[in-house]
Amino acid sequence: MEPAMACEMLSAIKDEGCKIGTLVMDNDSTTIAHVKATVDPTINKRADKNHTRKGFTGALIELANTHKVLKNQKLRSHIERCFTYCVQQNRGKAKDLENELGKIVPHLYGEHECCGTWCRSKKTDYKPRNLPYGKPLSCTLLREALEALFKKYCCKSEELAMMGSTQVNENFNHMVSTKAPKRL
Ligand SMILES: [Zn+2]
Repeated sequence: MEPAMACEMLSAIKDEGCKIGTLVMDNDSTTIAHVKATVDPTINKRADKNHTRKGFTGALIELANTHKVLKNQKLRSHIERCFTYCVQQNRGKAKDLENELGKIVPHLYGEHECCGTWCRSKKTDYKPRNLPYGKPLSCTLLREALEALFKKYCCKSEELAMMGSTQVNENFNHMVSTKAPKRL
């Protein structure tokens, strides 16, 4: 969404007497800054689920340049699934989300002491089937890189836990077009 267009839409809603609390959008900081400055400084940005996921996937693909094992698509989607599952399970709970995100890398490296019920390592015949050769990861350089990546998302746990979805965004657009057709 263009900053100017977003502002026009939001002003229109405000004129109708509605209170706008949170705006679900992609990670475009120009738009939110513009909206805060011209429409309402109390509006918050909420990370959009699809954009966050894309950001995470992109980061993994980039890491694959340095860490060959990540060229394995199955491994990448496994890490991605752990990440999305974690975010979904801890909606609205920033502290828990931060904690749980921190357990994923150890889990991938076969350290399951802190794992929650989502981990199947307690089963007797457990084998990490989604990992290459059915074995835990072992490269320490990759581990450092993955930990740094997860840490980045841990720092954003407040925003992540509040995460909206594209569907909410679509509803929002729909609401705008039905509420203020004359202005658009
Ligand atoms: Zn585990």
